[in-house]
Amino acid sequence: MPKTSCCHKGHHHGYGQHKQPVHATVPQLFGANVFNNHVMKERLPKETYRALQNTINSGASLQPEVAAVVANAMKDWAIERGATHYTHWFQPLTGATAEKHDSFISPTMDGSVIMEFSGKQLIQGEPDASSFPSGGLRVTFEARGYTAWDCTSPAFLKEDGAGNVTLCIPTAFCSYKGEALDKKTPLLRSMNAVSQQALRVLRAMGNTTATKVIPTVGAEQEYFLVEKEYYLKRLDLMTCGRTLFGAPSPKGQELEDQYFGAIKDRVSAYMKDLDVELWKMGVTAKTKHNEVAPAQFEMAPVFTTTNMAADHNQLVMETMQKVALRHEMVCLLHEKPYAGVNGSGKHNNWSLSTDDGINLLEPGQTPEDNAQFLVILAAMIRAVDKHADIMRTTCGSSGNDHRLGANEAPPAIISIFLGQELTDILEKIAKGEKICSPAGCQFIKIGVDSLPDLPKDNTDRNRTSPFAFTGNKFEFRMVGSSQSISGHNVALNTIAAEALDEIATRLEKSKDVNKEIQLVIKETMAQHGRIIFNGNNYSEEWVQEAEKRGLPNVKNTADALKTLIAPKAIKLFDKYNVLSKEELHSRYEIYSEQYAKHINIESRAAVHMTRRQYIPAAIRYIGILGASAAAAGKHGGVQKKLLERVSILLEAASKKVDKLEEEARKARAIAKVEKQTAAFRDKVMPTMVDLREDIDQLEELLPADLWPVPTYSELLFKL
Ligand code: ADP
Ligand code: MG
Repeated sequence: MPKTSCCHKGHHHGYGQHKQPVHATVPQLFGANVFNNHVMKERLPKETYRALQNTINSGASLQPEVAAVVANAMKDWAIERGATHYTHWFQPLTGATAEKHDSFISPTMDGSVIMEFSGKQLIQGEPDASSFPSGGLRVTFEARGYTAWDCTSPAFLKEDGAGNVTLCIPTAFCSYKGEALDKKTPLLRSMNAVSQQALRVLRAMGNTTATKVIPTVGAEQEYFLVEKEYYLKRLDLMTCGRTLFGAPSPKGQELEDQYFGAIKDRVSAYMKDLDVELWKMGVTAKTKHNEVAPAQFEMAPVFTTTNMAADHNQLVMETMQKVALRHEMVCLLHEKPYAGVNGSGKHNNWSLSTDDGINLLEPGQTPEDNAQFLVILAAMIRAVDKHADIMRTTCGSSGNDHRLGANEAPPAIISIFLGQELTDILEKIAKGEKICSPAGCQFIKIGVDSLPDLPKDNTDRNRTSPFAFTGNKFEFRMVGSSQSISGHNVALNTIAAEALDEIATRLEKSKDVNKEIQLVIKETMAQHGRIIFNGNNYSEEWVQEAEKRGLPNVKNTADALKTLIAPKAIKLFDKYNVLSKEELHSRYEIYSEQYAKHINIESRAAVHMTRRQYIPAAIRYIGILGASAAAAGKHGGVQKKLLERVSILLEAASKKVDKLEEEARKARAIAKVEKQTAAFRDKVMPTMVDLREDIDQLEELLPADLWPVPTYSELLFKL
């Protein structure tokens, strides 16, 4: 069981009532399905409660006797709420979550059953998991993976529409030798790493009270809703999550009338159900609104510890999809469901907090607080500049490739937005210049002087930056809407750990800590200031400027993934015991394969739709036009012209679909991962794009009643 370092004090206020009253208040609902601190206190004997808290807070190992008592209490609580099964809920490298349900039943001699759940069953599971991707880490003869309880994320009940209630135990998933087969194990390890190093910095600066540092995360989730009836008529949406074809709707997002617009009743009813389902599971759904594109929306939770935030984001995505079906809608989490309007991302808000509740990225009132803030900020500037490539690689997916750099999302270039005021302050501290504020101008001595107040509510803050400082946290905006947020936070925590480690070593050795901090800031700005960019990230000038600054611009996933197995990444992740070389290689293999597989599925769907829907529709229309032209005789000019245009497009599409099939076949046959991803990127994808052009033109010519699939107008504006 990986050691963990986080706590979730204060985030759950479940009332644990048996039946939720019909008009339950939100506080009554919230966390009702979570075996949280409140429930534990109520239901566990004092010593057991204390022992479990100790494990949760300090990572001490859990004694079997304690586990047995906890398991029993958990089972009773779950059964009272209608649960019949339990599952070790884990996050394999597919990016989704996995669960295998076991009932609590245990047969007795007299032919009846009792309901049982042992400490051992709580702590460890052995799913027959040979079908999960392991990237070569787990040879089939030792195919078993093991799941281990992550007790820093509380157990909860999942209810489904069929009335099943399942006790879910959040777990990590490892091979027999302890190698990570999932997304949670490295996340927990990275939380540990950053905690250790941040604590060293705090100690060197005189903090004696914090006992750990917790990376906090709030993930804003964007999504689309679409009429289910239409969705079911689109093979591309059903199998790829995005439209592969579709002529633009006469109206898109140009009127800017959707963003923050009044929420329609049908969508509001959906959002209400979603809130309730999430609240019951202890997910702090907080903000909901219309997004920029038609039929696009967002939900943001209140931030929490990183591993809980990652668990919760998985629940958010799953629940969004489930609840939509109840409303005869489908929730699309793909990064780019529709061409021509905005795609969806996820804003991963990240900060560091001490266990006594101090946000380390909060600029303070006192000189000491400022010093602490500036050190952490300098660490992040250093970290992001050194490892921009690693941050970039975590955002790679075939879906996100449609977003990054497409003038709606941040480009594939990583930079940091700090805002002009803060950048000026750092630059002046670095140069030893006076800093001016309404109170006057002065040389700032770290740890002695206060900083001028930073504008707190920076309303015109930069929306185009991939990594923006937003007052007391960083907002990582390149994350794809369908991605698990684990990888991004593994990267952030680990690169932060390294920079903090380096700074801590300097501060520990130094006789004058404040002077050393001043020096750290100066060096950081000199060596890594190039990563700061406060301008428009969507502009062409930035692309050129970034190149001059030597910042990487990795445009696609196939290339970005190579970062994972470069010596720099291997050294970093190994040093902080987050991912071994083997684990990184397995991830590289799996993610590359996923990229290729996704494009392969898209090519197949495109071929199907073209051969079985679009070509027949065009042929039908040609028949109609031919007959009509004959009937019209010398007046058949319009028909003949149309017939010619449709026929030319039909021939072109027919050739391109043959080519697409052939390119995909060739790409599939390539054995080497790197060559295969390149073929899907350079051969298959462009052919598919090419084919789309003809089909979309056909759509604009064919009669509406002959067009075999719902159009963009219907998909985007029906709700
Ligand atoms: P906006 O980005 O629209 O200004 P907020 O500032 O309220 O909205 O926060 C956006 C997201 O950032 C929310 O999910 C919020 O919980 C999260 N957040 C706020 N503070 C922190 C923090 N210290 N650490 C991590 N996430 C945070
Ligand atoms: Mg935001």
